[in-house]
Amino acid sequence: MSIQLQSVISAPPASSFDFTIVGAGASGLWLALALFEEGLLENLTLCIVESDASKHNDRTWCYWEVASPQPNVMVSKSWNSIYNPHNLLSRNDLLPYSYYHIRSADFYKSIKQQLATCANITWYTLTVAEIEVQSHRVLVKTVDTSWYSSQVFLSTQLPVRGQNLTDGLSDFLSQKERKKNAPFLWQSFVGWRLQTSSPIFDDTCATLMCFDIPQQNSTQFIYELPFSASEALIEITRFGQNQLTYQEAEILLREFLEKKNIDFNILEKEHGNIPMTAQFDVRRKYLEAETRVIYIGTLGGAIKPTTGYGFKRMQNYGKALAKALREQKPLPTMRRLNRFRFYDHLLLRILYSSPHRGKAVFQRLFETQPISRVLRFLDEETTILEEILIFLRLPIRLFLRSLLSYCFN
Ligand SMILES: Cc1cc2nc3c(=O)[nH]c(=O)nc-3n(C[C@H](O)[C@H](O)[C@H](O)COP(=O)(O)OP(=O)(O)OC[C@H]3O[C@@H](n4cnc5c(N)ncnc54)[C@H](O)[C@@H]3O)c2cc1C
Repeated sequence: MSIQLQSVISAPPASSFDFTIVGAGASGLWLALALFEEGLLENLTLCIVESDASKHNDRTWCYWEVASPQPNVMVSKSWNSIYNPHNLLSRNDLLPYSYYHIRSADFYKSIKQQLATCANITWYTLTVAEIEVQSHRVLVKTVDTSWYSSQVFLSTQLPVRGQNLTDGLSDFLSQKERKKNAPFLWQSFVGWRLQTSSPIFDDTCATLMCFDIPQQNSTQFIYELPFSASEALIEITRFGQNQLTYQEAEILLREFLEKKNIDFNILEKEHGNIPMTAQFDVRRKYLEAETRVIYIGTLGGAIKPTTGYGFKRMQNYGKALAKALREQKPLPTMRRLNRFRFYDHLLLRILYSSPHRGKAVFQRLFETQPISRVLRFLDEETTILEEILIFLRLPIRLFLRSLLSYCFN
């Protein structure tokens, strides 16, 4: 089914909508689907505005989950086991989880197809320039046109007049505050989807962290997702203050592949940077009743600062917002439990001030804990007892130093 509906236009007439979603990326589309599935779009209208007319396969998303994402046609591959980052000869079952790989092109297509039957959605291909909050509505402005909306969901950074920014976001937008308050790191990565001349991969098992590369005063590892015996995504990832450049990554990737004697062709390249910061964290549980501009996605605090994963949280937040809207309850934020924010602070400080120790921390985590516990911990679903068991087995002096630095800052 094509989504080139009559409603995809480039210059909208003056109009008004109940909801506007700015940005048809991961969080925008998850939210649109949730509004639709909650039945809100039977009577209310939604405008989805996206600036990129040729949105294509601009990234891939991976995450672990117990249930398969629906519809599972959007999943290009899944794995039930991973090699242990501590000992790459040991293979660990992910049960009850699977690790999923989704190409963004398949995600965009799948969600748009599900929404294509909804007459109350209008799609605009336009660049929003500014948002102005007025007393009972919001004016969404592009260079040439504007429209009103009762509420706006924003997944991109734009000037917003008439509404205070949520806690962390205002700090983040100011470079000065960013340095002063909390360590800020980048998760940067360069990946190649490779075709090899002979079958060498075991496509039933993924590698999330292989530390068998120079650390270069950062925490760096190789991520390997085999799609078949002769095709895999090999990606180098850096947690560091400086972003990994393509040239640096290319040298490291070639060295790594040469060491393994892999003869390859590059089919596709992926390059990206994700902010690793606790500064998007929201402290209040619910938005104020009069909030009309709501941040979603990365800006709303969906990305876990110490892992860069956020896709699943965006889906869950979309569902939570839609449910609250339907039930006319206070709108939730993506607030995380304080103790998990605190753990992230400690680890970010270690990665910031002792980047060469990151490798030891992650290896020790996977060496001493069952994988399912590690994944639940990263999902912030462990109990305090389990967290004590985890921290007791980590390099304790490193965490105590980080704690001191946290207290004094
Ligand atoms: C390369 C890459 C790979 C990633 N991989 C993973 C992963 O494997 N797993 C995971 O959990 N997370 C991953 N992430 C992190 C996170 O899930 C993604 O960044 C995710 O796409 C963020 O969703 P979002 O909605 O906040 O932003 P986006 O998906 O970037 O959506 C924002 C949208 O807004 C549009 N836009 C921007 N400005 C305007 C404007 N002025 N007017 C209208 N539209 C506008 C953009 O074109 C874009 O489509 C990855 C991030 C990157 C960069």
